[in-house]
Amino acid sequence: MTSKAKTTITFYNGLTTIGGPMIEVAYRRSHVLFDLGEVYRPELALPDEKYETLVKHQLIGDVPNFYDPAITGKPIDHERWEHAAAYMSHLHLDHSKAMNFLAPEIPLYAGPITAQMMPALNEHGDFLLPASGHSSSYVRPIIAAKYQQPIQVGDITLEIWPSDHDAYGATGLIISTPDKRIAYTGDIRLHGYHPDWVHAYLAAAKNCDALIIEGTGVSWPEEKSAASSEEFTGPKNERELTAEIVQLQQDNPHKQITFNTYPTNVERLLRIIADSPRQVVLYAQRAHLLKESIEQDYPYYYLPGDKIFTDLKPELAVSYDELLNDDHEYLWQAVGNYANLQKGGIYIHSNAEPLGDFDPAYKPFLQDLAHNEIEFKDLRCSGHADEMELKEIIKEVQPAKLIPVHTLHPELEENPFGERILPKRNETITL
Ligand SMILES: [Zn+2]
Repeated sequence: MTSKAKTTITFYNGLTTIGGPMIEVAYRRSHVLFDLGEVYRPELALPDEKYETLVKHQLIGDVPNFYDPAITGKPIDHERWEHAAAYMSHLHLDHSKAMNFLAPEIPLYAGPITAQMMPALNEHGDFLLPASGHSSSYVRPIIAAKYQQPIQVGDITLEIWPSDHDAYGATGLIISTPDKRIAYTGDIRLHGYHPDWVHAYLAAAKNCDALIIEGTGVSWPEEKSAASSEEFTGPKNERELTAEIVQLQQDNPHKQITFNTYPTNVERLLRIIADSPRQVVLYAQRAHLLKESIEQDYPYYYLPGDKIFTDLKPELAVSYDELLNDDHEYLWQAVGNYANLQKGGIYIHSNAEPLGDFDPAYKPFLQDLAHNEIEFKDLRCSGHADEMELKEIIKEVQPAKLIPVHTLHPELEENPFGERILPKRNETITL
């Protein structure tokens, strides 16, 4: 006698934290895991980033049958799990940093941009956690999925959809088992460059059995009133953000202006380069990242003593001295050495590192700029849907079950169209 097979979802990590979701969907002898990140908590100042340390502090999930036994010391039951695969939604570390912990024999899928950029991001071995038996700059193979094409993992089918987030090439996932359909948003927003892609993904997920949705935007209810009040004058979307950066250059024709952005937010950087009236000059390392990942050449500079990147075109180099003396021609990426900048200049911090107050490096960084009399302009745009957008996303999908993750307050996301489930860490639910 055989009992009817069921679709189960197990939640290993990233439920009530911002980032680090690790979720398994299983059906009979097939299972898939997504994502493979580490929760970002620099304030813990951990002694090391070993598997045991990360599990102990709940920065990664204690996921059985996926990690490399050489790292965990625990074997994988390949007989029980005949078909296995993993998926990574986007490049951010809270979704990708532990990808090298995945057992080498288990295929890892991601969108094509994520697959292409990851080796460049980890070129110096300081982005990902290391794989067992390899150097720190090693990146395990990632299979670049074709958008919306079914990927068969035994009884489970995956479809990867282009979405929108402040990581270049971010994707969402639709998982089908023989009897259920599940959507996992990854990180998502409606106010980026591609709301049309997001709406198409949500339409494909419509009426799914379970929507696993991020909820970063409802994590700080105490700040909600401030953000929605008329005092809030920051950019509302990516287009407004680029426009403000352009405006700032037009309003300050004779001031040194520098900026920085987050490395994986390639699209924002490309828009700033395209729209700025000033010539944008990148730090060589960033220019190299763009060359490696999207094969584009942009003007760049080196700091004294920097290693030379042989793939950068010599004719595009701008000297550091020329940038330091400039007050009208260039908008350039500053990465430190603020004492060298002109007093009275402007520095635009656009979701660059240090990311914010929660990072112990943030306050000293602000003090350094202030000490050198550089005006700090915090021009940011969230990669995450806010409360209203989350409601809109849920309305477009109308899921039978809503499962909020990746938020400090999962209970603040509601499902007017069915049930809402708030799983506990390591809990398995049967759909
Ligand atoms: Zn993200």
